[in-house]
Amino acid sequence: MKKIGFIGLGHMGLPMAKNLVKNQYQLNVFDLNPEPLQELKALGAHVAISATDAIQNVDVIISMLPSSPHVESLYSGPDGLLASITGKPLIIDCSTIAPDCARRVSKAAADKGLHMLDAPVSGGVAGAEAGTLTFIVGGNSDEFNSAKPILEAMGSKIFHAGDHGAGQVAKICNNMLLAVHMIGTAEALNLGVENGLDPKVLSDIMVSSSGRNWSLEVYNPYPGVMENVPASKSYDGGFLVDLMHKDLGLAMEAAQSVKASTPMGTLARSLYAMHSQHGHGQLDFSSIQKLFSGE
Ligand code: NAD
Repeated sequence: MKKIGFIGLGHMGLPMAKNLVKNQYQLNVFDLNPEPLQELKALGAHVAISATDAIQNVDVIISMLPSSPHVESLYSGPDGLLASITGKPLIIDCSTIAPDCARRVSKAAADKGLHMLDAPVSGGVAGAEAGTLTFIVGGNSDEFNSAKPILEAMGSKIFHAGDHGAGQVAKICNNMLLAVHMIGTAEALNLGVENGLDPKVLSDIMVSSSGRNWSLEVYNPYPGVMENVPASKSYDGGFLVDLMHKDLGLAMEAAQSVKASTPMGTLARSLYAMHSQHGHGQLDFSSIQKLFSGE
């Protein structure tokens, strides 16, 4: 049975780790926050006292951290895990980070004879809980093939995007598009409501018309239109505004590096920055609806 060291058990990491336990993997888990560790302990995982402790004698290391600096400091530098790894575990970083950071850390791993993949995910907390995430993987084919069975325990679609960093490039393109259609959906819903329409009726019409998109159909931002989405739970949980803002920043950096024009992404980033400044950084990203209703 494969032994996995799992570091970062937040909104996404915790349900992902639970699915690995359900699929009979042996887990060593660590997070700076003790709360999710207790939940996993009750399921049979071993709770480590540090990240270094979590990766002792494991076959695979998985990390699911907020952003590039977290990943870089976890793995690199004199106190980083790369300096203390024993054996040859496969490293899979599932965080959404800058492609350049992913390439840098995987190169540092390769310099130590280790294999490291970037494998960011799409599908949100619901996908993580259901084990239906989409994994978007960057690395070579052998690394991809070794990681695939483990990723299949947490996801239903596993894509090989290309070499190291390619998973991150594909992920940030997707999230830039997601931000743009979420904002457009919120704008259209607000326009309809301000003109006297019922948001549910308007959503049903647009879902069956050419305005159909994922934000409208699966993750509707207007409170009360859909059950079990953050909009109907005071925008609690889900994918935080500050994480979307971070991803849009990564998209802007990637655009700048090749002089790609991203007018919609630039505007989306600015609107999410404004929304965060209004004190909504820790709400789900569909709360951008509030920007239109002036809250
Ligand atoms: P989160 O903030 O809920 O979880 C991150 C966890 O990492 C926290 O529990 C934190 O305590 C832990 N952590 C930070 N530094 C650590 C360290 N040095 N050692 C151990 N633990 C550490 O974030 P999340 O929503 O789970 O997102 C994680 C990543 O997945 C992000 O890069 C995000 O962009 C991406 N993502 C999130 C979603 C979503 O819907 N939430 C969807 C797709 C991708």
